[in-house]
Amino acid sequence: MGIIVQKYGGSSVADIEKIKHVAEKVTNTQKKGNKVVVVVSAMGKTTDNLINLAKQIHKNPPTREMDLLLSTGEIVSVALLCMAIENLGFEAEGLPGFLAGIRTDNIHTKARIRTIDTRRILEELKKDKIVVVAGFQGISPEDNITTLGRGGSDLTAIAIAGALKAEICEIYTDVPGVFTADPNIVPEARIIPVISYKEMLEMASAGAKVMQSRAVEFAQKYHIPFVVKSTFIENGGTMVTEVDFKEGAVVSSVTLDEKQAKITFFHVPDRPGVAARIFGALGEANINVDIIVQNVSTSGYTDLSFTVNIAEIERAFEISQNIGKELGCKSVTSDNEIAKVTVIGLGMMNHPGVAARMFSALARAGINIEMISTSEIKISCIVRKKDGQKALKTVHQEFIK
Ligand code: ADP
Ligand code: ASP
Ligand code: MG
Repeated sequence: MGIIVQKYGGSSVADIEKIKHVAEKVTNTQKKGNKVVVVVSAMGKTTDNLINLAKQIHKNPPTREMDLLLSTGEIVSVALLCMAIENLGFEAEGLPGFLAGIRTDNIHTKARIRTIDTRRILEELKKDKIVVVAGFQGISPEDNITTLGRGGSDLTAIAIAGALKAEICEIYTDVPGVFTADPNIVPEARIIPVISYKEMLEMASAGAKVMQSRAVEFAQKYHIPFVVKSTFIENGGTMVTEVDFKEGAVVSSVTLDEKQAKITFFHVPDRPGVAARIFGALGEANINVDIIVQNVSTSGYTDLSFTVNIAEIERAFEISQNIGKELGCKSVTSDNEIAKVTVIGLGMMNHPGVAARMFSALARAGINIEMISTSEIKISCIVRKKDGQKALKTVHQEFIK
């Protein structure tokens, strides 16, 4: 009998009625003769609310305690879903991450999964129980609770599916699949029935929050196919797997990331070791840097800007200000009012001119580009946050017919 892993996101378990609906879906899957492992996220906006509470007490909350706090959100969902399943006459066993054998490293608030000891899950499945696992969390080598970064329940589901060699991993969410752009911003966006890991990874890294990028990375590395579906609508679904590129659309999707922030060092001495000093310090603090731009230097000085996730801007700014002083810069500023729009497509590898088309479309719409970054299959532009949604719609209209 095959194992099916199903993951239900925050909006799918946002209230009691929705939790009851998920219990119906889960028990129906078991009735069809499958062994079922369910991964759940925290209810609705719980994680945001918990972060908010912490920030009201401490500007930079200690990350170990932050993880302790955040892990509670998914545990609430687990307990309630198990009760709803039992209420339908089925047996369920709820497991927080550490009881499900999810061992991580010790990088609090964005830990990586190292191993999964599946013994407990398998024992419960053998007893014909539906196993409900708390997403987004694990336990460090020091036996502390860790969390896996925002959207991390996706990673829990993918990693468990891999460890159990599940038949399929189903990611249930509030949209019917992966679209050519966020359907909540671009109503004309179309569903993509099958997509390669590579493109899905670029989309996720560019901020399409429908899948966490680390989860896609993990799925690609260990060849774990998964499907993204709606909890509420039967039809649709996007299969994410290894697919060969077929000649077709040059751009397959466009993405907007409104969770970016920018730091600029003005008038920094242009000498060897400066970039290494700045980015070395940020790396040591486990802060991921996305786009970096350095201006042409004039009389031995230059300006240098980079972007980070907005959740890390306070820490990044504090570190940058200290280094700015040390290097003798004129000033260091931080700017939260930016957004990143990205076009993605395997077809871009063989088609020059995509960048020019993107820049022209943005120019025609009167949108100024502040930073640019490209890779083999994507082009990203930083724009003002107020222009972000317009930029997304403009670029979608340009490339996706
Ligand atoms: P969950 O709570 O189920 O994890 P998320 O809110 O994390 O759900 O992700 C689903 C959301 O992702 C959708 O509601 C949609 O607004 C957003 N999204 C962004 N880009 C895309 C895309 N290309 N296709 C589908 N959804 C997208
Ligand atoms: N609850 C966590 C978050 O909001 C994890 C998840 O939903 O996947 O980021
Ligand atoms: Mg999510």
